[in-house]
Amino acid sequence: MSAPVLVVGGGPAGLSAAHALASTGTSVVLVDKADRLGGAPILSGYAKLVPSGEWARDAIGGMVRRVEENPLITVHRNARITDFSGEPGKFRARTSTGADLDVASAVLCTGFTHFDSVNKPEWGFGTYPDVVTTTQVEQMLSSGAGIRCPSDGREPERVAILLCVGSRDRQIGREWCSKICCTVSANIAMEIREHLPKCNVYIYYMDIRTFGLYEDTFYWESQEKWKVKYIKARIAEVTAIGGRLLVKGEDTLVKRPITIPFDLVVHAIGMDPNVENLEIAATFGIRLEKHGHILKAPTYSAMSGTTRPGVFVAGAATGPETIDDSIAQGQAAAMAALGMAHAPVAAAAE
Ligand SMILES: Cc1cc2nc3c(=O)[nH]c(=O)nc-3n(C[C@H](O)[C@H](O)[C@H](O)COP(=O)(O)OP(=O)(O)OC[C@H]3O[C@@H](n4cnc5c(N)ncnc54)[C@H](O)[C@@H]3O)c2cc1C
Ligand code: SF4
Repeated sequence: MSAPVLVVGGGPAGLSAAHALASTGTSVVLVDKADRLGGAPILSGYAKLVPSGEWARDAIGGMVRRVEENPLITVHRNARITDFSGEPGKFRARTSTGADLDVASAVLCTGFTHFDSVNKPEWGFGTYPDVVTTTQVEQMLSSGAGIRCPSDGREPERVAILLCVGSRDRQIGREWCSKICCTVSANIAMEIREHLPKCNVYIYYMDIRTFGLYEDTFYWESQEKWKVKYIKARIAEVTAIGGRLLVKGEDTLVKRPITIPFDLVVHAIGMDPNVENLEIAATFGIRLEKHGHILKAPTYSAMSGTTRPGVFVAGAATGPETIDDSIAQGQAAAMAALGMAHAPVAAAAE
C-alpha cells in the first residue's frame, strides 16, 4: 500500500489538492492550524466571490464538505507540523498534537496573511472607526448586517475605497501587486450601490488591474451600470472633521490637490506572506523568496516544486494568488506529489 500525501493548509489550494489526490485513490492527511477548513474565504467571512459571484460559504463550503466526507482524507484541525524528516517517498511528519505521520510527499498550501492596515497609519485605520478594510466590508455583506458606519450604525451616503493598501508600496516593504483587490473592490463597490442605491462610491487608484476578462464585467460595468466613480490619485492622508472623514491627496490626472469628505473609507488590503513562513521553511527545510513567500521552482517543467525534493507548494503560499489559480495550483501540485505517493517506498528511498 502506498503512503499517504501530507497536505498542509485547508484553504482553496489545500482543499483542491486533497480532493484531486483522493480522486485518484490516494490517501491524504490534511493538517490545518485553524479549527475549521476553508482558508481565508471562510475564516475571514468573505461574501460573494469574484469572478463567479457565488457566496464563499457555498462555493468554498462545498469544497470543505467534499473533503470532510471523503473516507480517503484524514483531517487534523488545530494542528501544525513541528518536525519533518526523511526523503521523497518516505517522510515522517510530527504534528503539534503529537501524531506521527508516515507520508510519501507533502504539499504546502499555507496561504497568506492579510495586510494589517495599522501599518499604514496616515490613512486613518485604527484612528477612525469608520475607516475599515475590504475584509470588514465582506463580513458586513456576508453576515447580512448590511453596509454601516461602525461609529454609529448609520448607512453611509459616501464611500471611498482606497486601492493598493499594503501592496505596491515600497515605503513599507510591500512591492508586490496583490492581483485580485482591484476586481474585489469593483465588485464591493457594485454591491454597495445595489444595497444602498443613493450612496456615492468612489474608488481611488494608482492603476486599475482588473486583468483579463475582468475588465468589462467589473471595471466597465461598475462605471457604466452602477455609476461608481474612479479617481486616479496619490493619497496623502485620511483625517476627520465634523463627524466626516476627509481623504486628502492629489488628483494625478489634472495634477491638483483634492480633499473630499466621506462617511466610510475602505482599505483594499493586500496579501502579505504568511507570518509563519520562517517557521514553516525551517520545519520543512525549504527556502523562501526575497519577500518571504515560499520559493517555488522557477521552471515550467516543475512548477509546483520547492527547493526540497518531495515537498510541493500551491496557492497564495507562493505569493498573491486568486482563488481560481490557487485551486488550479492545488491540482497541479497533487499531480506532482502523486508520483511520489505511488512510487514503491523502497524504490523511492534508494
Ligand atoms: C479581502 C479579500 C477578498 C478576496 N476575495 C477574493 C475573491 O473574491 N476571489 C478570488 O479569486 N480571490 C479573492 N481573494 C484572494 C483569496 O483569499 C486567495 O486567493 C485564497 O484565499 C488563497 O487560497 P490558499 O488556499 O492558497 O490560502 P488561504 O486561503 O490563506 O488558506 C491557507 C490555509 O492554511 C492554513 N495554515 C496557515 N499556516 C498554517 C500552518 N503553519 N500550519 C497549518 N495550517 C496553516 C490556514 O489556516 C488556512 O486554512 C481575496 C483576498 C482578500 C484579501
Ligand atoms: S490588484 Fe489593484 S488594488 Fe490590488 S495591489 Fe494590484 S493594482 Fe493595487
